[in-house]
Amino acid sequence: MLSLPGDTFREGVNHMAARESLDDLLRQELRDLLDGETQITKALPRMAKAAESGPLRSAMEQHLRETEGQIERLNEAFELLDESPRRKTCHGIKGLIDEAKEMMSELNRGSVLDAALIASAQKVEHYEIAAYGTVRTYATMLGHRNVATLFEATLREEKATDQKLTGIAEGLVNPDAVEGETSEESDREGLQVRVARTVGTAAGRAAALARQAANSIGGRGSRKQASGASRKARKSPSRRASRKK
Ligand code: FE
Ligand code: FE
Repeated sequence: MLSLPGDTFREGVNHMAARESLDDLLRQELRDLLDGETQITKALPRMAKAAESGPLRSAMEQHLRETEGQIERLNEAFELLDESPRRKTCHGIKGLIDEAKEMMSELNRGSVLDAALIASAQKVEHYEIAAYGTVRTYATMLGHRNVATLFEATLREEKATDQKLTGIAEGLVNPDAVEGETSEESDREGLQVRVARTVGTAAGRAAALARQAANSIGGRGSRKQASGASRKARKSPSRRASRKK
């Protein structure tokens, strides 16, 4: 994860000034991470509340508790480095959270929003995996073994969260489960089947959009129209093609 230009870094490791600058870079990254994690503790409860899927909600709630522990580790790292904890705006996490907020305001509660929430959360985890991998490497190279150990624990949590989210997301693209649906059927089905139906194929998306439009207009006439659109989508060639995959 260390992304310093190779030559500069090799020349620098035995040079006091360059060593100091890498040390400064480590501290800068820690301030960035402390700010990013703090932003995440504010965003996660809102994302969990917006999630329809139980497993997704509990994964987010569990990761909120882990994130609070990760902030503790960052504070410990500052202490080990003889520095008072400070925050520096993490624009990367801010941007990812802004995108998640946009999704939450644009999409209705349901399986499609769940898919978007998973995508947003995984983008955040990947950012964190890169950032913690970087600070762990800096700390190791600067001889702060105890600091590096702290971030190894955090890295394990971030990677496990990413994998758990992948597990939930994999249910979204089960082509065998892709069918049209009525709202009654939808009530009986798990997230895996419903999201596969709405996200997995173009036909599913068309049906979902038709249902969404019908729901926002309301009334029996429009619902009837929407189920007609669902039937049409069910019979469309694109669905048959995707089932053969
Ligand atoms: Fe984190
Ligand atoms: Fe995380």
